[in-house]
Amino acid sequence: MTDLNTTWANPADWFNPVGREQRIKDYVDLANQLAWKRQASFFAAAVLSGFYFDAISIFASYGIVVLTELFDIFLTRRSKSWDGRDPVIGRLILKRIAINTVLSAVAICVFIVNIAVQQQSGGHFTPLFFLFSASVFAAMYNSQMIGILLLRLSIYGLAFVYIAFLDVLRYSPPLSSPIWLEFFTIIFVLYFIIDIAIKFYRTSQDRLEQMALLKNENQRTKAALEVKSQFLATVSHELRTPLTSIIGSLELVKSDKLGMMPATLKPIISIAARNAQRLATLIEDLLDLQKLDADEMVFQFKPLDVNDLVAEAVESSAGYASKLGIDVKTVFCAGDCRVLGDRNRLIQVMNNLLSNALKFSDVGGDAVTVRVDNLDDRIRIAVQDKGLGIPDDAQDRVFGRFSQVDSSDVRKVGGTGLGLHITKQIVARHNADIDYVSELGVGSTFYIEFDRLMDCDGIASNQSAVA
Ligand code: ADP
Repeated sequence: MTDLNTTWANPADWFNPVGREQRIKDYVDLANQLAWKRQASFFAAAVLSGFYFDAISIFASYGIVVLTELFDIFLTRRSKSWDGRDPVIGRLILKRIAINTVLSAVAICVFIVNIAVQQQSGGHFTPLFFLFSASVFAAMYNSQMIGILLLRLSIYGLAFVYIAFLDVLRYSPPLSSPIWLEFFTIIFVLYFIIDIAIKFYRTSQDRLEQMALLKNENQRTKAALEVKSQFLATVSHELRTPLTSIIGSLELVKSDKLGMMPATLKPIISIAARNAQRLATLIEDLLDLQKLDADEMVFQFKPLDVNDLVAEAVESSAGYASKLGIDVKTVFCAGDCRVLGDRNRLIQVMNNLLSNALKFSDVGGDAVTVRVDNLDDRIRIAVQDKGLGIPDDAQDRVFGRFSQVDSSDVRKVGGTGLGLHITKQIVARHNADIDYVSELGVGSTFYIEFDRLMDCDGIASNQSAVA
């Protein structure tokens, strides 16, 4: 990684530091944000000084400050459209910033020294305090670019020294005079300003270093994710094809169409078929996950009758339900219960909710109920079981990837822990919400809420349905 601290150690880098484009961009952005704040403080200083000193000369020097400020606004406006990448444009902008820094710092110093010159007695608290504020302001907001900051502070420094010497030259006082005390105080304040400027600069260096680190990490993570995702996709595809033929062959053997299977073989073939099916489900889930991660899952949105959708899903899980000896009851909604959705994906969602409800119920236990409710502008599908239930603190694990609420060795039912994660993402792509209520030992209800499709939506959405 680039060591950004070298830019401080090597003066040659001050005007050409590492990450310069980013610094220029930061500088220009900040200058834009602070433009009005700066104007307000200059104006306030001019009004205040104009009241107590010679107003004409004060406003004349303030006029020069305003001119350089206008030039600065013009400059930052032109640089605003720069994307922070092209180094040639960056160099040009930097040159303009440097020129304007000199002009602006000199104008401010002329304005402030003008006040100091007009003060014949009583020290120079007002001009020095203006100069101090301008220096702190620069240290705070110009710290992205050490060269520019040093340029400005050097000019302010000269003004500080000039004001410090003003009374010494005017009155040639003895060393015991308060004028000398003031002189040394000014030198001390100058040191203090340099110190805070360094601190601000270091902070901005640290920030840039952190940003570079984060950017690096981000790129590496993205590259690793990309590789992982491609690997997953390739392996899953390669596994799917032979697995499909294994499942087909096992089903054929099981059906006795190739001749009667010996009774001793039957349980083994059934286990092989079941496990091959589980593998196939896992591979499908992995492929879906990869598609969702890469934003490559294609949705074909069309108006759908939710009652039809639920009836189809319940029918397709009837085999599994009867094997477990559990009834699946349905309560359909009345009226127009349409939503805009992708039929196949929503069937997948319903299959997942239904198979979970059945899987986590006792064999031969209470019925699973699927309800569709019309809530005026929303349609709710609820899948309720009287099974195992979910503990209170398990929300993250329920919808997490590869996570299961009970992942211990004693877990009775199988699964990948991917189903609800995929379901949640599919539901989100439908602008719908999924959640659940559950009580351990009592049962769970998973519900999804969609926007109900109104007639006027139907026409519009039908036309733009196929993504
Ligand atoms: P899988 O069912 O493959 O383990 P899911 O993502 O579908 O993965 O579910 C994640 C976890 O949420 C399940 O392992 C289970 O612990 C819990 N869960 C989901 N649905 C139910 C349910 N109806 N009753 C009890 N627990 C459930």
